[in-house]
Amino acid sequence: MGMAKIALVTGGNRGLGFEIARQLAQAGVKVVIGARDPRRGGEAADLLRGEGLDAEAVTLDVEDHASVEHATRELEDRYGTLDVLVNNAGILPEATADSREVISTRLFRQTFETNLFGAVSTTEQLLPLLRRSEAGRIVNVSSTMGSLSDQSNPDSPYYELPVPAYRASKAALNSITVGLAKSLADTPIKVNAVCPGSVQTDLAPGQREQAPLTATDAARVAVRYALVDDSGPSGRFFDRDGSVAW
Ligand code: NAP
Repeated sequence: MGMAKIALVTGGNRGLGFEIARQLAQAGVKVVIGARDPRRGGEAADLLRGEGLDAEAVTLDVEDHASVEHATRELEDRYGTLDVLVNNAGILPEATADSREVISTRLFRQTFETNLFGAVSTTEQLLPLLRRSEAGRIVNVSSTMGSLSDQSNPDSPYYELPVPAYRASKAALNSITVGLAKSLADTPIKVNAVCPGSVQTDLAPGQREQAPLTATDAARVAVRYALVDDSGPSGRFFDRDGSVAW
């Protein structure tokens, strides 16, 4: 019997990340829930263990370099390797900003700190562990709102949505998906970006009530590329219907 794969999901304590963690565990993966609040992380892992799944938690605030380093050491001590990293932690502070500024340095910094630098920092620190895997996989949870093609398409359902910092953070995340895939082309590691669709979570006010997709349905695309086989793609962007234009 082979050893179970090990996966880390950042922001895995609730919303989409929790469902990604659950479905990875249902697929037989040992899943580690990254959560900035240790209590919430522990409760989420307990919930999955209560379903008979193999889940643990690690404290991980993607914005805090020391926290990312500490979580990395913890994973190294516990497992010595990492097979799957899902960069899921993300925020949309523009949804609750008081002012309807067209562009705001403050909101850009805040958004990029989590959505971009959080993913960069986590990936940077965990890459040595992913290199030890026979089939390392990185999934960046992005958004069609980060697609420049979609942003300039008047027929897009998101065309009128003014969240420039969020869009730019996901466009940048898409860019590093391509760059990292190229840099890692001579390794087994595959890096892909996914858009889960519009999901019933608490990312923005009203999102849970208005979004068409349950987290259960939306998580599937992330899980697919987290477990994609050796002949699968790298450096690409997918949603549940297939390839998404950059
Ligand atoms: P959510 O329900 O608000 O959950 C966000 C998760 O990220 C929470 O677990 C939160 O932890 C965590 N998080 C935020 N900042 C963090 C930090 N600094 N360090 C560690 N964890 C942090 O949102 P969601 O909808 O599940 O979003 C998950 C991902 O999907 C995001 O990247 C989002 O951009 C992307 N996405 C969502 C949609 C959608 O329609 N919902 C569409 C496209 C893409 P706490 O519990 O501690 O706050």
